[in-house]
Amino acid sequence: MIENVKSLLSEKKKVVIVPHMSPDGDAMGSSCALSLFLRNEGHEVDIITPDSYPAYLAWMPDIEHTSVFIDDRKAAKKKIADAEVFFFLDHNSESRQGDMQKHIEERDVPKIMIDHHPYPKAKVDYMFSRVDVTSTCEMVYEFIVAFGGEDAIKKNIATCIYVGINTDTGGLSYNSSFPQTYRIVANLLEKGIDKPMIHELLYNTSTEGKLRLMGYCLSTKMKLIPECRAAIISLSKEEQEKYNYQEGDTEGFVNIPHKISDVDISIFVSEKKEKVKISFRSKRDVPINKLAEAYFNGGGHRNAAGGALELPLEEVLEKLERVLPIFVKEYNVI
Ligand code: 5GP
Ligand code: MN
Repeated sequence: MIENVKSLLSEKKKVVIVPHMSPDGDAMGSSCALSLFLRNEGHEVDIITPDSYPAYLAWMPDIEHTSVFIDDRKAAKKKIADAEVFFFLDHNSESRQGDMQKHIEERDVPKIMIDHHPYPKAKVDYMFSRVDVTSTCEMVYEFIVAFGGEDAIKKNIATCIYVGINTDTGGLSYNSSFPQTYRIVANLLEKGIDKPMIHELLYNTSTEGKLRLMGYCLSTKMKLIPECRAAIISLSKEEQEKYNYQEGDTEGFVNIPHKISDVDISIFVSEKKEKVKISFRSKRDVPINKLAEAYFNGGGHRNAAGGALELPLEEVLEKLERVLPIFVKEYNVI
């Protein structure tokens, strides 16, 4: 299959790279790494995100070639209409492309997916799908090496790849027991990545508002449900505004309740403009993606999943508390 993609890209092409909506470090890291590589190969490359990317990633190499679909639909539609090849990164279904989905679906040009989520269901010409990796970034690393060898991994590409490996594993804590990951990280270090600086940029650029919002969430908003070994934090739009919420400010909050030894399931519920977004995390073999799929229109990985409902916040919280005991019983969490 890689040979087919190589021959497809043997001539200069107009390439559009699409990460999933609400893009995270892996979605943006893999998109920027691939974009840098393909541009080095002489292709014309654009990254189009369905919605905005978080401010804590704005420093990444090549992110200036990113446009946000919902911010300038006309320009983005033109790029989609002109594209000769699409790459879908870090998502396994077109439904994660938001309003861009229908415009991309209309285009009858080769589509390539590179992704690490289970059960891929995208309709693409070339599907690179694995679950035994930390991240899409790890797959993009292998993809680039398959094309251009280790020399094709320049320092800026290595930086982007490290961002995805690091952020998709909580700083190499979960979903990161694959020996190959560390061989790749060793190679990235040999390319000269500034690991302490990347860490600073990713994790220590909080605003005062974000830190105080975190304090508020933990002291006032965290609800423990001991009989389900679960913790739920919810934030209304009003509360977000009070703390001058900026996109990405609550990134990582969902992981904090896992510091409690009696918590195996952590849930973060955030009221958005037209929907309520729910993030799920679980410990060990609790398949939290099953909960996201069954009740919250979502999916994801065994230990990290998400979903969204177009219901009032209160109703989402009621639903959560109603279905959690059912889920916990079905999967013997206790
Ligand atoms: P997060 O909680 O960080 O937004 O997402 C955690 C994981 O769940 C990510 O791997 C993401 O791809 C997946 N995920 C988040 N939201 C959704 C959703 O609405 N639908 C699906 N299918 N997966 C999601
Ligand atoms: Mn990912």
